[in-house]
Amino acid sequence: MANSREIYDVIVVGAGIEGSSTAYHLAKAGKQTLLLEQFPLPHSRGSSHGQSRITRKAYGAKDFYTRMMFESYELTTELEKECGKQLFINCGTLVFGRPDDPFTSCTEECLQRFGVPFDKMDSVEQRRRYPSMAFPDDFNFILDKSGGVLRADKMLQAFQAQFVRFGGVLRDGEPMVDLHPGDEVTVRTREHVYRGRSVVLALGPWAATFLPSIGVNIPLEPLKITVCYWKESGSDTFCSSKFPTFITENAMGDGHIYGLPAEEYPGLVKICLHTGPRIDPDKRDAVDNQWVMDKIKAIIATHFPTLEREPRVVETCIYTNTPDYDFVLDHHPVWKNVVIAAGFSGHGFKLAPVVGKVLSQMATGQKPSYDMSPFRIDRFFKNKL
Ligand SMILES: Cc1cc2nc3c(=O)[nH]c(=O)nc-3n(C[C@H](O)[C@H](O)[C@H](O)COP(=O)(O)OP(=O)(O)OC[C@H]3O[C@@H](n4cnc5c(N)ncnc54)[C@H](O)[C@@H]3O)c2cc1C
Repeated sequence: MANSREIYDVIVVGAGIEGSSTAYHLAKAGKQTLLLEQFPLPHSRGSSHGQSRITRKAYGAKDFYTRMMFESYELTTELEKECGKQLFINCGTLVFGRPDDPFTSCTEECLQRFGVPFDKMDSVEQRRRYPSMAFPDDFNFILDKSGGVLRADKMLQAFQAQFVRFGGVLRDGEPMVDLHPGDEVTVRTREHVYRGRSVVLALGPWAATFLPSIGVNIPLEPLKITVCYWKESGSDTFCSSKFPTFITENAMGDGHIYGLPAEEYPGLVKICLHTGPRIDPDKRDAVDNQWVMDKIKAIIATHFPTLEREPRVVETCIYTNTPDYDFVLDHHPVWKNVVIAAGFSGHGFKLAPVVGKVLSQMATGQKPSYDMSPFRIDRFFKNKL
């Protein structure tokens, strides 16, 4: 429909996991949908590349995410059936910390509230089950049995392939250079002009630079995340049949780390620091990450004694954080047919199946299935008026 008088029901800009899931739900519901991506696909410049992400039902004290996670699991199973591939490995998620660590206690309470099976362990039991981790004797460990690994890249490709199968139009290597809102929305690329009844902007870290041009100034902070893969010397205790995903917010008093079993590169476990330097996504590789490397190497040497001291593989990915680490899923304050999806704050992959459904509802004038108040844009400005 490029340059024609025809009009799409919805144009989705950004083919990361959030935009691709949104486009999939729209096409599946029979909507004429265009999915536009600036880079040739697949690419590794944003936030959705790589082969693995953690998924889990427990979300500390934020029950609104846990409610959405139940449906996200169902939608992932549906996608697995449609594409005929396994997208989820149920190896559990271990959350741990000191006796006074709020994230560990909130995780336990959340699992109890929602009736999700879990195991509570002391350090003796932890060492028996996972002998390659060394943490202090007074730590508490909660194993969320619903958790595990999402095969990230396969899931991204499945959404895109199903979108096309349901009749959607996918254009990659074609950046949106201009957006004209109004009763109908015009999206310009260098090659084409597209018209839509509504648009969903799922721009990942580029939201921070693009949204101000349409009058939306959300405090978004793109961070460069250093993704490290470590080799175990001697044994093989980190495969997903023996090792879970894990998260610890302040176990070392100096940083939130997380890990995933060796499912991406054979024999290499993924363990990363959950922060990094602020960046412009177009200049990602120019930013120094030495302090991140120093910190993660010190953590590995102290708490993972069977791993080599240097990572075998190092890659880069981007978080786009909001001040409260909650997503932005809202309409533009003036143009209701412009839907904004941003600020996934390093935890948006597992929720993408349900986020895409909600965004597809918002873009087509339906009532979203969930309470959207935690995701509104005006939450950042309420106390400043
Ligand atoms: C290292 C790392 C580990 C993570 N681990 C987890 C985890 O374990 N569990 C979890 O749930 N989440 C995790 N996340 C977070 C999750 O991956 C992200 O929240 C999610 O991928 C965000 O997707 P997105 O679609 O918003 O962004 P992106 O993937 O960046 O997609 C945005 C897309 O928009 C395109 N775009 C931008 N501007 C334009 C334009 N003008 N025209 C056309 N296209 C444009 C970009 O090229 C990009 O493809 C992790 C993230 C990282 C970086």
